[in-house]
Amino acid sequence: MQNIKPQPANLAPRSPEFPWPDNKKTALFVGFDVDAESVWIGMDPKNTERLVTMSYGGYEARVGVPKLLEVLARHEVKATFFITGWTVEAHPAMCEDILAGGHEVAHHGYLHLRPEPGNIDVMAEEVDRGLEALKRVLGIVPKGYRAPGGESYTEFLELLADRGFQYSSSWRDDIRPYRHVLPRGAGPIEIPVNYSFDDWNFGMTHRSGSRALFGREDVLGIWKDEFEQTRDWGGVTTMVMHPQVSGRPMRIRILDQFLTHVRSYEDVWFATGAEIADHFERHEAAQNNSTQR
Ligand SMILES: [Zn+2]
Repeated sequence: MQNIKPQPANLAPRSPEFPWPDNKKTALFVGFDVDAESVWIGMDPKNTERLVTMSYGGYEARVGVPKLLEVLARHEVKATFFITGWTVEAHPAMCEDILAGGHEVAHHGYLHLRPEPGNIDVMAEEVDRGLEALKRVLGIVPKGYRAPGGESYTEFLELLADRGFQYSSSWRDDIRPYRHVLPRGAGPIEIPVNYSFDDWNFGMTHRSGSRALFGREDVLGIWKDEFEQTRDWGGVTTMVMHPQVSGRPMRIRILDQFLTHVRSYEDVWFATGAEIADHFERHEAAQNNSTQR
């Protein structure tokens, strides 16, 4: 029998308790993964020649993102858009519009390749090409990273720390932010995602992965329940949406109604990933000062 060391996979202690700004009870982190065509290329490079498959991703620049930006502006919500480097290069105008809306742009790989144990060389190139594209096309240095396909490993987390990322938003093990603990010491902050807010699971169906879609009442019910209980617990609700899913006509209504629902509470801090990470760091610095005294 294989001898696997019995210890928690995540070495970080339980997330620290600290108040949200302005006496808010909870936080809503509206996050989008802007994959465009790159998610389909990442699945199979031959898809570049399959124009209908590619058109799922192409919807983002043509319709999805512009319509989502309208909804966010109407609700006065600033979101974080995790964008692949390939998408930044292929759709610079779409990305400029995101920045012009006052939203945060963060890193989502280059060709949407998933961190898998053993592929550190490939992932180093992914991260560096993504950083280069964000800098050259949009003039930004991202603070946050979300893993395409939602996976990670220690060596890769170390790479993110070495590249200066302030936060990651990929883990699924908490309702509050915490700081990663690497074998060599402190790692980036984690703002864990709520997997129930990954719209791909409810609203994406295609030729090679066809399945029934979930309607508005199903999804809205799940989202409201998750949000309300997270609010009671004082956590952060982290959304994982894709413009090629939630930018679709009937699905954008789900988001619209969800934001209306959340706006009906006055104790919700709507924050970007960077704002949450900055707030975490202020709290952490205050904690360290008080323990040193
Ligand atoms: Zn993605």
